[in-house]
Amino acid sequence: MRLVLLGPPGAGKGTQAVRISARHGIPAISTGQLFDRQISAGTPLGRRAERYVRAGELVPDEIVLDMVAERLAESADCGAGFLLDGFPRTLAQAEALDRMLTVSCGPLDAVLDLEVGESEVLERISRRALSEGRLDDGAETARRRLKVFAAETAPLRSHYAGQGLLRTVDGSGPPDGVWARVEEVLAAVPRPQVRASRP
Ligand code: AMP
Repeated sequence: MRLVLLGPPGAGKGTQAVRISARHGIPAISTGQLFDRQISAGTPLGRRAERYVRAGELVPDEIVLDMVAERLAESADCGAGFLLDGFPRTLAQAEALDRMLTVSCGPLDAVLDLEVGESEVLERISRRALSEGRLDDGAETARRRLKVFAAETAPLRSHYAGQGLLRTVDGSGPPDGVWARVEEVLAAVPRPQVRASRP
């Protein structure tokens, strides 16, 4: 299956991505984690991305797209499929992904939108700041990230609804309850067509 996981920061995308990946045997590709690794390793890409990540801003599309294209070119991802977590985040990224998939893996099967209210999300982020100490979990930055989500990423819901791909999942409450709802939604997703060969 080829899936995208949408949802605001703190919606639990990372937690659910790990479970979906294990249950369905597809790699979870998190652009946030890829940036984190590049930043920790001090690579040129990491150095270009760091100030945006620290500020809770989106990394410019061209940097993100190069990184994702490279990752999707790893042939294994087109076989069983993949789950994208935290990508796309802008309409330009979504359109670029549509184009990339047209020439390589084939179209998406579903976009899961984890819906969680703002107060729950802010509470989760502040808990995570204490336990994990992420670069961008300070209160101010968290609020910035939520604003960026509302302005740049939330519009993707109508992009994917228009393609008939959007599946909304109630992401509130404990992870096990969310997982049960995710499973239910995934069970109803039509299985992908097997493509005879890659162009
Ligand atoms: P995440 O772990 O998905 O919340 O991502 C952490 C940070 O990485 C974001 O706040 C952005 O600065 C950056 N980032 C991750 N994915 C993207 C993306 N698709 N487009 C732009 N910036 C991204």
